[in-house]
Amino acid sequence: MEKSFIIILGYNSSLPFYNHHPTSQILSMKNNLFLIDCGEGTQTQLLKTKIKMNKINNIFISHLHGDHYFGLISILSTYQLLRRNSLLTIYAPKGLKEIIEIHIKWSNSNINYPLRFVVLSSIKQKKIYENKNVKIYTIPLKHKIYTNGFLFKEKKNFKRLKIDKIKKIKEIKIKDYRSIQKGYNYIKKNGTIIPNKYLTYNRIKSLSYAFCSDTKYNPEVVKYLKNVDLLYHETTYLHKYKDLANKRGHSTSINAAKIAKKSNTKKLIIGHFSNRFTNKSMFKKEAKKIFKNTIIPKTLVKYYI
Ligand SMILES: [Zn+2]
Repeated sequence: MEKSFIIILGYNSSLPFYNHHPTSQILSMKNNLFLIDCGEGTQTQLLKTKIKMNKINNIFISHLHGDHYFGLISILSTYQLLRRNSLLTIYAPKGLKEIIEIHIKWSNSNINYPLRFVVLSSIKQKKIYENKNVKIYTIPLKHKIYTNGFLFKEKKNFKRLKIDKIKKIKEIKIKDYRSIQKGYNYIKKNGTIIPNKYLTYNRIKSLSYAFCSDTKYNPEVVKYLKNVDLLYHETTYLHKYKDLANKRGHSTSINAAKIAKKSNTKKLIIGHFSNRFTNKSMFKKEAKKIFKNTIIPKTLVKYYI
């Protein structure tokens, strides 16, 4: 199984800019593909990757500013043209379902594949998705309109078996493997306990990814982000514009770096830069003063978590 990774399809803010795309990301976690936000041009960006669009079954929309969802209708329409038949679930604030339905109605088109909307409305953190490998939670953010970030967590990995050691104990059968992989000791028929560490390798750490865009500086968010392996946090402004950032519900480079530091995250990716700043490396320079492991991403490149 490939290690979990993200591909950033776009990280620009709302005004269009040549060769830059608004917010959208793909997360591959334990072989699940999740699309996070869907700004204009997401579909054409996706076509430049090896990601198979049809394998995306869950789309997460942080909020209803256009630079975070204007690309959605075209993707839904393509799925119809490609005769998708598997369920697609969209997690988004109230209103998106209505927007999509109005579009379908007035374009006299149909969506014949199962499409489900999960309306996000809580201002508290909620678990919104779980399967056997992954759990996903909202991250309540503070922006001009109702907004969530998303926290993606791998579930505890099973331990890898030391088959040579196991084979030496004849009474261990294949049906016993799963409980040993979960970390239990093996108890022989004569009552002897075989410690789990003798039968398995150390458990591989489960990884987590947090997506925070758009939001003003809000240290309360740190409690949701503790020890995440990778954090994406918006930095619309350089720090000299901190008052403007706060007024517009956005963060500065220093704000993002402080959140990363307080959260004890391992790596910070910044984005959602305002076009007023032509030299994007200034964002990194500022953030690095507070949090060293900060990067400005390249689009369409895999970043392993
Ligand atoms: Zn916004």
